[in-house]
Amino acid sequence: MSHVPTVTLNNGTEIPQLGFGVFQVPDDETTTAVAHALEAGYRSVDTAAIYGNEAGVGRALAASGVPREELFVTTKLWNADQGYDSTLRAFDDSLAKLGLDHVDLYLIHWPTPARDLYVDTWKAIETLVADGRVRTAGVSNFRPAHLRRLLDSSDLVPAVNQIELHPALQQRELRELHAEHAIVTEAWSPLAQGAVLADPAIAAIAARHGKSPAQVVLRWHLQLGNVVIPKSVTPGRIRENIDVFGPGFVLSDDEMRSVAALDRGLRTGPDPDTLN
Ligand code: NDP
Repeated sequence: MSHVPTVTLNNGTEIPQLGFGVFQVPDDETTTAVAHALEAGYRSVDTAAIYGNEAGVGRALAASGVPREELFVTTKLWNADQGYDSTLRAFDDSLAKLGLDHVDLYLIHWPTPARDLYVDTWKAIETLVADGRVRTAGVSNFRPAHLRRLLDSSDLVPAVNQIELHPALQQRELRELHAEHAIVTEAWSPLAQGAVLADPAIAAIAARHGKSPAQVVLRWHLQLGNVVIPKSVTPGRIRENIDVFGPGFVLSDDEMRSVAALDRGLRTGPDPDTLN
C-alpha cells in the first residue's frame, strides 16, 4: 500500500497530499468508490453539499473500520447557503449526512462575488472552528481579489484555497499569493478531467518512466507542492492514481519545465468572477 505524505496546514493540522474526489459520482456509487479508495490507501476524501453524496461518503467511512483520526474529510458550503445563519444550518445538515461529529476541512465552495456574502459566511465558519466542529477552515475558487478581501476582514487565514489547477491552467499568480500567506494550494480537476492526458509532452515523460500520463500529471502536482484530489470510479485507476510515491519516480527539472510549458489558460469549469 502506498504511503501518502502530508502537508502541514497553518493551524498545524496535517492534510494528506493526495486525496480522493467524488464530484459527479451518484450517492449510491460513492460508497463503493470510496471503499475502493480506502482499500487502496487513500485517507482523505473531498465531497461537497452540492454533490449530493455526503451520505454515500459517510456510509463508506463508517463501514471501513478505519479509525476517525486517520481520516481527513473535506466538505463544502454551497452557494445558496452563504450568509451567517444559513451557513450554520447547512453545516449541521452536511455533518448529519456524513454521520460525523466534525469535518477536517470546511470550504466556502465559490466566492459568488456579486452576492457579497462570503465575509459573513466566513464569520460563521469562525464560529464552527471555535466550537471544534470544523478542524480547519478554507476557501475554494477564490481569485486574488476575493482572497485579499477576506484577509483584510478576518484574523482567520484560510488554510487552503482549492482551485482548478492542471498543466493547462497553472494558476501562477494564485500560487504565489498563497505562498506569501502560507495558504496551501489544493488542485481540483488535477487531471483536467482527462483533457491533458493525451498531450504528447506528457506521453513522452510517461513512456520514459514506464508510468501512465495520469501518474505523470499527479507527480508534477506533488513536486510543485500542490495537494491533489483526483477522482475516479474505476478501481484500477483509483489504485494507479495513488501509486505515485515510489522512490524511483521523480520528474527531472527538464521534465517539470516541459510540463510548465503546457499552460494555456484552459478552464474546464466556471470562472469564479462570474459564477453567482
Ligand atoms: P479529475 O481531473 O480528477 O478527472 C476525473 C476524470 O478523469 C474522470 O472522468 C475519471 O474517469 C478520469 N480519470 C481518473 N483517473 C484516471 C486515470 N488514471 N487515467 C485516465 N483517466 C482517469 O476531475 P474532477 O473534476 O473530478 O476533479 C477532482 C475532484 O476535485 C472532484 O472529484 C472534486 O472532489 C473536486 N472538485 C472541486 C471543485 C470545486 O469547485 N471546488 C470543482 C470540481 C472538482 P473515471 O471516474 O471514469 O475512472
